[in-house]
Amino acid sequence: MIPYGKQDINQDDIRDVVDVLNSDFLTQGPKVPLFESKVSKYVSAKYAIALNSATSALHVACLALGLKDGDFLWTSPNTFVASANCGLYCGAKIDFVDIDPISLNLCPRRLEEKLIKAEASNTLPKIVIPVHFSGQPCDMKSIFELSQKYGFKIIEDASHAIGGTYLNNPIGSGQYSHITVFSFHPVKIITTAEGGMAVTNSKSLALKMNLFRSHGVTRDESLMKNNSHGPWYYQQIELGYNYRMTELQAALGISQMGRLDNFIERRNSLADRYDSLLEHMPLLTPIQNNDGLSARHLYVVRLKLSEITKSKRYIFQYLRKNGIGVNVHYIPVHTQPYYLEMGFKYGDFKEAEKYYEEAISLPLYPNLNEHEQDKVIKLLNKVLCE
Ligand SMILES: *Cc1c(COP(=O)(O)O)cnc(C)c1O
Repeated sequence: MIPYGKQDINQDDIRDVVDVLNSDFLTQGPKVPLFESKVSKYVSAKYAIALNSATSALHVACLALGLKDGDFLWTSPNTFVASANCGLYCGAKIDFVDIDPISLNLCPRRLEEKLIKAEASNTLPKIVIPVHFSGQPCDMKSIFELSQKYGFKIIEDASHAIGGTYLNNPIGSGQYSHITVFSFHPVKIITTAEGGMAVTNSKSLALKMNLFRSHGVTRDESLMKNNSHGPWYYQQIELGYNYRMTELQAALGISQMGRLDNFIERRNSLADRYDSLLEHMPLLTPIQNNDGLSARHLYVVRLKLSEITKSKRYIFQYLRKNGIGVNVHYIPVHTQPYYLEMGFKYGDFKEAEKYYEEAISLPLYPNLNEHEQDKVIKLLNKVLCE
């Protein structure tokens, strides 16, 4: 099976992980801070906090920004459920802003319309989470301008987007947001098996995320509520979690960072090759904005169903049966049973729903070779055009 996404692990990665196993620290050693500094330098952010997943990173980001019971958090319906669940963890209410049908990202115009209504009913969001879907940067400048006007905070869910740029700056540099979150799940751009990172330019947000990552416990006397009892002393000053990344994961992450630029280049060249070889087929290839560089996490085509005699289900099953591990990103979050039970309905976010009817993610990862890509294209041509 040619999967839709796959990690790239080489001998250096393996050696570096084994070295950690032979070292003194499996957790809370030198590798995690080193990985953090590599990522923060790469993305031009002042601070980086490594976590055991992007889901944990989104949670501590919401906590650090003070999201509480009764607050509102808005995100895109075209995302993985974690982008919304992080708000629920904090007791907040979730709402969505429909996508722009071209970029497939949260639509700034719809955001503005929704903000105007929310202002009138006193239900403005505390946090908005734009998601750089497939690696394509959101229109952050417009979203940031709205945040200035309406007073919300921004967390960029850049789970798909490390290595990309927006307006000539790395994604994560934080010109237009408070915190940016990356995922290192094996299908993402670089991997630590499980893992994530939150980056920010704010010292106080970094300190808070650091606390929430590790039980709300500090050994920093300047943060303590009363005098230290002695050198053994630590103090719990918040209710935190154990969301720490291990040394094994950080060593893998450091090694992977060395190949990040190659991964992005390879993903872009394969995506460009898809673009040209799929041109004549009854489908839409992904449209790239010219305001940045996409990390190209996903290659999603949209079937022109009115020009095709077969259903999406048939096409999907045909490709799977023939060894192509296609997938679908994403089932609109508001249509998940858990969210329907909260009161969301089919029809609430029509662009995301229409997109979902047509979308199929084709295999795209650095080790995919042209021969395998040709097989994908040949089968797609067969099922769509014959
Ligand atoms: C993968 C992903 C997450 C969650 O990442 P984990 O590291 O698996 O917790 C969150 N948001 C988006 C958009 C993702 O693709």
